[in-house]
Amino acid sequence: MAKIAFIGLGNMGGGMCANLARAGHEVRAFDLSADAIAKVEKAGAKGASSVAEAVKDVDAVVSMLPAGKHVRGVYLGDDGVSANAPKSAVFLECSTIAVEDARSISADLKALGFDMVDAPVSGGTAAAEGGTLTFMVGGEEQAFERAKPYLEIMGSNIFHAGANGNGQVAKIANNMLLGISMIGTCEAFNLAEKLGLDAQTFFDISSKASGQNWSMTSYCPSPGPVPTSPANNDYKPGFAVAMMLKDMRLAKGAADSAGALTPLGDDALEFYTKLDEDGFGGLDFSSVMKRLKGEI
Ligand code: NAD
Repeated sequence: MAKIAFIGLGNMGGGMCANLARAGHEVRAFDLSADAIAKVEKAGAKGASSVAEAVKDVDAVVSMLPAGKHVRGVYLGDDGVSANAPKSAVFLECSTIAVEDARSISADLKALGFDMVDAPVSGGTAAAEGGTLTFMVGGEEQAFERAKPYLEIMGSNIFHAGANGNGQVAKIANNMLLGISMIGTCEAFNLAEKLGLDAQTFFDISSKASGQNWSMTSYCPSPGPVPTSPANNDYKPGFAVAMMLKDMRLAKGAADSAGALTPLGDDALEFYTKLDEDGFGGLDFSSVMKRLKGEI
């Protein structure tokens, strides 16, 4: 049994923290929201009143926070993790943040003698609750090996992507592709339907032909063919437009700084930005379909 601090108990962190506690670890949990702490206490975690209290004498720190500025503040701020955790602890930073932030924060922590991995996730709140997340991990081999037993409790696929920051690279490149492929899939279904081919027939053919992709077969944006997809639930998320937009913006920033051309990524970013600006940020990202049909 290890002592683990968990910081950031929101939609994702709450379920992840609960799984670590249920696995028998001694988990001390902190969030700015008292309600979020109360929820994980029900699953067996102990609430802490500050980051400092949560990380005292721990073997590992796990964090699941909104953005890079929160991560920097929690780890490197006054009375944050690095000022209070033992040097022997390993840090598992699971938020989705900019590649540059992940690299600079881990380098600053390294200079203080701490090991961190960036371990962003694929999978939404159901996967966080079910312990079936996919983790894309950046960090040194020995830090990865130390982090892995904890990641295996929270996820079912754990990939070591290379040095610090590479977990975030995998995450944003993957999600940029997802954002693009969803728009392409919506365009194809809309075109087929407008030309007189119903969604199920097009699905049966294209899912066995060269247009096949995850947005179609696991998350079909037309109602019908994939019963679990948000298209069958009024496009309630799922994965909201606003969350896709966050990841596409991170991809764009990273692409610009690396000098990588992403013309379709840029178009997709513009498309999701417009949906969000028009007030549809809370709909599932497959609601691109509704826009193509002129319904929103
Ligand atoms: P959320 O807003 O529900 O949770 C974030 C939590 O962090 C909140 O409870 C907030 O109070 C807490 N927090 C903020 N600053 C803090 C601080 N200084 N100290 C302690 N707690 C603090 O967000 P979420 O949906 O759980 O997402 C968390 C991360 O996971 C994000 O980086 C997001 O991009 C990523 N992610 C989310 C999903 C998803 O489906 N929701 C999927 C994959 C990745």
